[in-house]
Amino acid sequence: MNQVELEKIKKKALEDHIPIIMDDTLQEVAKILQEVKPTKILEIGTAVGYSAICFSQYLAPEGKIDTIERDEQRVLEARENIKKAEVEDKINIYEGDAVEILPTLQETYDVIFIDAAKGKYPFFLEQALRMAHEKSVIIADNVLYKGYVMSDYNKHKQRTAVRNLREYVAQITTQANLETTILEVGDGLAVTKVKNRI
Ligand code: SAH
Ligand code: MG
Repeated sequence: MNQVELEKIKKKALEDHIPIIMDDTLQEVAKILQEVKPTKILEIGTAVGYSAICFSQYLAPEGKIDTIERDEQRVLEARENIKKAEVEDKINIYEGDAVEILPTLQETYDVIFIDAAKGKYPFFLEQALRMAHEKSVIIADNVLYKGYVMSDYNKHKQRTAVRNLREYVAQITTQANLETTILEVGDGLAVTKVKNRI
């Protein structure tokens, strides 16, 4: 892992207004990764690879990250960034829509990080649960979405996203086999531990 390159990647992503993981959010995810020491991470929403590169330093030896991105230009930039950070052997990008790619994956993951289209979070959860084992952690970014999710205001343009985020939060907080904490870092981070109680 090349720290100097990582800082450059972050700076450029911020200049280009790419919604990369916020520092306080990254700190929380890093704590979880240090505890779990994952062998396999799945990320939905690569953007330019910044979060995947950050996460790669917490993998167990021989650990790998699969990450999905549908924007062709971002995939190109992510591949370059991953090369510059010298972590090509740890990160695999699936190029395409996660809605199509996820159902084709037949692995289990220790940690699943959801950070893509907010309107698809319930579907991403369904797929994440299919690929989880009894100790997996499912982490979702942006679940509070600027405060819209927990307010009763429903008239903004993003109402489909908000409705689906509310459904996501309802599922992770009410399903008997899931244990969830929602952290008020960044745009809201939901940390869900999968338990094998059902
Ligand atoms: N995890 C990144 C930021 C991701 S931003 C980081 O912290 O560095 C969200 C990304 O998800 C965008 O690049 C967007 O193109 C991608 N995305 C949104 N919906 C998607 C979908 N359905 N399938 C694949 N990628 C998607
Ligand atoms: Mg995000």
